[in-house]
Amino acid sequence: MSVEQAPVQRADFDQVMVPNYAPAAFIPVRGAGSRVWDQAGRELIDFAGGIAVNVLGHAHPALVGALTEQANKLWHVSNVFTNEPALRLAHKLVDATFADRAFFCNSGAEANEAAFKLARRVAHDRFGPEKHEIIATVNSFHGRTLFTVSVGGQPKYSDGFGPKITGISHVPYNDLEALKAQISDKTCAVVIEPIQGESGVVPADVAYLQGARELCDKHNALLIFDEVQTGVGRTGELFAYMHYGVTPDILSSAKSLGGGFPIGAMLTTEALAKHLTVGTHGTTYGGNPLACAVANAVLDVVNTPEVLAGVKAKHQKFKARLEQIGEKYGLFTQVRGVGLLIGCVLSEAWKGKAKDVFNAAEKEGLMVLQAGPDVVRFAPSLVVEDADIDEGLDRFERAAAKLTQG
Ligand SMILES: *Cc1c(COP(=O)(O)O)cnc(C)c1O
Repeated sequence: MSVEQAPVQRADFDQVMVPNYAPAAFIPVRGAGSRVWDQAGRELIDFAGGIAVNVLGHAHPALVGALTEQANKLWHVSNVFTNEPALRLAHKLVDATFADRAFFCNSGAEANEAAFKLARRVAHDRFGPEKHEIIATVNSFHGRTLFTVSVGGQPKYSDGFGPKITGISHVPYNDLEALKAQISDKTCAVVIEPIQGESGVVPADVAYLQGARELCDKHNALLIFDEVQTGVGRTGELFAYMHYGVTPDILSSAKSLGGGFPIGAMLTTEALAKHLTVGTHGTTYGGNPLACAVANAVLDVVNTPEVLAGVKAKHQKFKARLEQIGEKYGLFTQVRGVGLLIGCVLSEAWKGKAKDVFNAAEKEGLMVLQAGPDVVRFAPSLVVEDADIDEGLDRFERAAAKLTQG
């Protein structure tokens, strides 16, 4: 039984939505695997993955099954009660990682908000109020709440909203000497994205993360990895910290964790978790049964040797072809990133024009992403089929050819 709905068009966006986004001209209405169809029935290949979210593509049978099964059982109980999917998910994450404890929320920003509040609370309890400073990196992105934009290293997102959260400093990324110069016994936490996602797909050096770990230990500061974009298989390991072999004290996850259903998680150790005593933090929807049922299914599929090895193989396929295309058309100078988080750095001639590449790709039936104005980003499904990779990159090459031929 379906109720007739009033027709809507892209133009409605400009009438009824807050204008903080500028979405593309078409409206996707349906997806299957790595293909998406718009209102007019046009088919596109999806290498954007909903910004590194749709980790198993669209309408994956395991996720649809988990969601519909849970939808017929129990939607929501709040945290006045716990629920089975949340407990199963916490067990799975604890078993698979360094962590002993999980806190669930609904987004990456909330996972980071919890991480930052936990770090400050731990320092407050153990050392007193003086030790509250957070060191983050220039150009980092941690979400859009006031605390997370204040920690994020992009003033364009934090300026103009009144006083920011204080006690936060920013040091250049991948610069261990700068971190060493800034860290002190007042530092409660150092926050790092193992690969800076939004600001251009910039992977950390192993020595940088190792050095950050040592500096944190020396100064009784906590090391927080923001793995909202890099987590849940994206790098070919379950979390990027495993790829690097450097273990954080607190880890935030979201995006891919729900495969398209909103969920976030903060993972930490027993010793730290105990500082968030009853009533110190919370969220009504956190650990929602629907979200947790889907995330359980995501982990069951993603955290397998086949899928994780597939990510590494697909990386090679993307990288080889993208380097070829970049060279042939003089479009980019470098293809970087790990696993299926890939950034193409535009050449001098195309600097600042990632949006033009995005538009050209869309015209050829391909969804890609930008990561700032100078980088074209690919964050497809981890199980994108090889045939879809080939066809999608054929479309991308056509876009590159048309764009560069004017
Ligand atoms: C997307 C992202 C966030 C914010 O997640 P939301 O779900 O949009 O709140 C935080 N950190 C990183 C590294 C991200 O990529």
